[in-house]
Amino acid sequence: IGMREQFDLLTDLHDLLERSVHHEAPVTLRDGHLIKSGYNEELDELVVLLRDGKKLILDLESKERAATGIAKLKIGFNRVFGYFIEVSKLQSDKVPEHYIRKQTLVNAERFITPELKEFEDKILGAEDKRVDLEYQLFLAIRAQLAENSSRLLKTAQLLAQIDFLSANSEMAHKFNYRRPEMNDGDEILIIEGRHPVIERTLPSGKFVPNDVHLDQSTDEVLIITGPNMAGKSTVLRQTALIVLMAQMGCYVPAQQAEIGIVDRIFTRVGAMDDLRRGQSTFMVEMSETANILNNATEKSLVILDEIGRGTSTYDGLSIAWAVAEDLVQKNGKGVKTLFATHYHELTELAKANKRVQNYSIAVREWQGNIIFLHKLVKGGTSRSYGIQVASLAGVPDNVVHRAEEILREIELGKFGQTADPMANRKKSARIKNHPDQLTLFAPPSDPIRLSLQEMNLDQCAPLDALNTLYALKEMLKN
Ligand code: ADP
Repeated sequence: IGMREQFDLLTDLHDLLERSVHHEAPVTLRDGHLIKSGYNEELDELVVLLRDGKKLILDLESKERAATGIAKLKIGFNRVFGYFIEVSKLQSDKVPEHYIRKQTLVNAERFITPELKEFEDKILGAEDKRVDLEYQLFLAIRAQLAENSSRLLKTAQLLAQIDFLSANSEMAHKFNYRRPEMNDGDEILIIEGRHPVIERTLPSGKFVPNDVHLDQSTDEVLIITGPNMAGKSTVLRQTALIVLMAQMGCYVPAQQAEIGIVDRIFTRVGAMDDLRRGQSTFMVEMSETANILNNATEKSLVILDEIGRGTSTYDGLSIAWAVAEDLVQKNGKGVKTLFATHYHELTELAKANKRVQNYSIAVREWQGNIIFLHKLVKGGTSRSYGIQVASLAGVPDNVVHRAEEILREIELGKFGQTADPMANRKKSARIKNHPDQLTLFAPPSDPIRLSLQEMNLDQCAPLDALNTLYALKEMLKN
């Protein structure tokens, strides 16, 4: 049956509440002012009595004046005697017999009558009675609602469902989400997927959508490289979110999505240090990784962001490598995985495993700067642009230049061309061979390079070539 048929509008309970309890009822239950007038007759009478008490006194006062002929007779009240009739001493001879004397003052006398005391009982008890009655009425209303609690809960559940569905359809409409196709297969195909949250933080149209394809034959583990800030985490997270949203029954931020239903989504992303629990970042990272390796099945989706970064380079690389291999081979079928890493070495995995693909996030170099294109493209990258990113982030120029210099030395050292690591030499010694002004991307204009460029090999005799080589070696020594 449809939701509409199941829907219990609870009109009876609504009516009851509408008629009985004040909208702005006080928080305390024992001070009255809970129940509306017109709900209970006895309560209404008490309220009238309390409200009109003053007038009733005045009525009684004028009645007694008329009956006794004492023009200055007054009805008063104090805590000791309650209500009393006061007559001045001069007129006390006119006081009728049924008045009972209670108190004598300097120039007045006070009396009570049975009628006055009866009135007093009524009025003084009225407040207590009213509060008590309101409380009893309240309890009865509450009990009646409690008896119907299962109906209330059912309606609440239906409302929650409607809320969920309408919020989703509103979102889908507003943000241009699409209906994903769900199936029991092993593929995940997302065309022009977006990150639902980051997209919102950017001006309209600025978010760069990306395609992601995962399956169990050729695109099972995607190794995603690219500099920091390129958008690796974003692609990873949006993929997990799109799958999650699809399986919740939502439309998704993509042009098209075909989702082979997954049994679990495992993530190892953005370390929120858990120092409170006394675990180091690396320990948290590794226990999460262990959980993934121990529990992921061929039906799972795994998102790994920069694992191994919490330890030394070679440790980290080795762990990342072994984890990636395990995921490719798991149960002979492997696990669908997006693996973002700054270890470019991992791109080697694709050579030996047909289920591994390399991707990277495109970056364009322009006038010595880098521009992030945020586009996921096929193929790995071998540069990390760490120094450029540091410079973009505002690390001072002198530190950036020095880092470039050190990097160059380390890279040269790798090829065995310098015995003495330049990075450690005194600055004065360095300047000689390596001008301070290094351009970021153009090759440095050192004399050796220039001489080599000037040589015309087609017209060069073997002996000239040898002589030039000697000259070049000489230049190295300087
Ligand atoms: P990485 O993980 O590569 O260091 P992030 O995924 O954290 O990079 O992205 C860094 C920032 O780049 C994001 O906060 C966002 O502002 C921007 N960004 C990432 N992906 C996109 C995209 N597809 N389109 C537009 N901006 C993006």
